[in-house]
Amino acid sequence: MSIILFHQAFGQTLFQALHAMSFDGLGMTRPSYSEKENEAHEILCAIAREYGLEIRRDWACNLYLTLPGRDRSKPAVMTGSHMDTVPSGGNYDGAAGVVAGLSILCRWVKDGFVPERDTTVIATRAEESVWFPVSYIGSRTAFDLLTEKDLQARRVDTARTLAEHIDECGGKSQWPHEDILKAENIDCFVELHIEQGPVLPSNNAVIGVVSGICGSMRYRHATILGQYAHSGATPRKFRADTVVAMADLVTTLQVYWERMEEAGKAMTLTFGVCHTDAQQANFSAVAGKVSFSLDVRSQDTDLLNEVDQHIQQVVQDVAKRHNVKIDLGERTGSSPAHMDADLQRMAFEVSNELNIAAMSMASGAGHDAATFANRNIPTEMLFVRNENGSHNPYEHLEMADFAAATSVLDGVLKLRAERI
Ligand SMILES: [Zn+2]
Repeated sequence: MSIILFHQAFGQTLFQALHAMSFDGLGMTRPSYSEKENEAHEILCAIAREYGLEIRRDWACNLYLTLPGRDRSKPAVMTGSHMDTVPSGGNYDGAAGVVAGLSILCRWVKDGFVPERDTTVIATRAEESVWFPVSYIGSRTAFDLLTEKDLQARRVDTARTLAEHIDECGGKSQWPHEDILKAENIDCFVELHIEQGPVLPSNNAVIGVVSGICGSMRYRHATILGQYAHSGATPRKFRADTVVAMADLVTTLQVYWERMEEAGKAMTLTFGVCHTDAQQANFSAVAGKVSFSLDVRSQDTDLLNEVDQHIQQVVQDVAKRHNVKIDLGERTGSSPAHMDADLQRMAFEVSNELNIAAMSMASGAGHDAATFANRNIPTEMLFVRNENGSHNPYEHLEMADFAAATSVLDGVLKLRAERI
């Protein structure tokens, strides 16, 4: 069987199994550290056992499936992604990278190929920060980078702490933590992921060779406080209207973003949440409270800080203009990550050999790969074409595209794993 046909059949079977165990009537739901995420990990283990791969879990229940190499003392080649989903997400975000890695190891076993170096697929935990307000939990626990405060973060639906969830799933959250990944033991990390935007389909490319991962700066729980007042009885000059202040804030920052774009400064700026207080707001009152979130992303840390400074200034101006108080709340976020030039070159070479259309692109979304890159481990991401975006039930990955991308990953990992 050809490489591509093997990966296509493997993917089809495993994605069907994942769909069957996590479909909630609308999409896939596998919350971080839930029974469903455990079950997905168990499905992977069953296949790993069948093919004789080594199975290991660390203190935070990240899963490692390894094909031992001829020289086990050499730094290992790593690939993988996450198995949790957002509520009613699609079948491919995260899972595609783990399924691809496992398919590659199984094909190597079937072919009797033993690499020079250990080759490991990691299935990380809790990558989707919609459950816990902490970025890249799985990969950061793998390197033991979380703080005690992070471990006390509560899951939005259960209100129980990350530490409690880790322990409940069979991990051991108490310090000192066990089975920590060390950068010096890792040769490289290459993560395959579905593309989450429209760039690949609109360019007729199957694969995106990622040049860098954007960092983020977020205000998740910001508020504007003004004064509730009768809509008919309160003249304009006596108002502290939070909706008008919100509109001013949005348009002022939108104009700023347009100016940055014209100056060639690549970033995104998004108000993802914006609402009046459902309990108090009504059609005949000036709204006294608006809640909103603000998310800014860029590949450039200095630019993120520059934007933040500008936001602080705009917030002061808007508050003054509309006689309201604006509280941005706590700033959270993640650092940008650079991808390895050699791995990018290899990905293009393998794509060319296999006659698969590839293009270079940045990643606007955060991924576990950023944690590896920020530990100075040579890191790369391969995006695969996917219709309809991600984090929704309509993600659409053609199995032929999955097989093509997995074959490119297969080629890149093999080149690295064979290095003496
Ligand atoms: Zn993902």
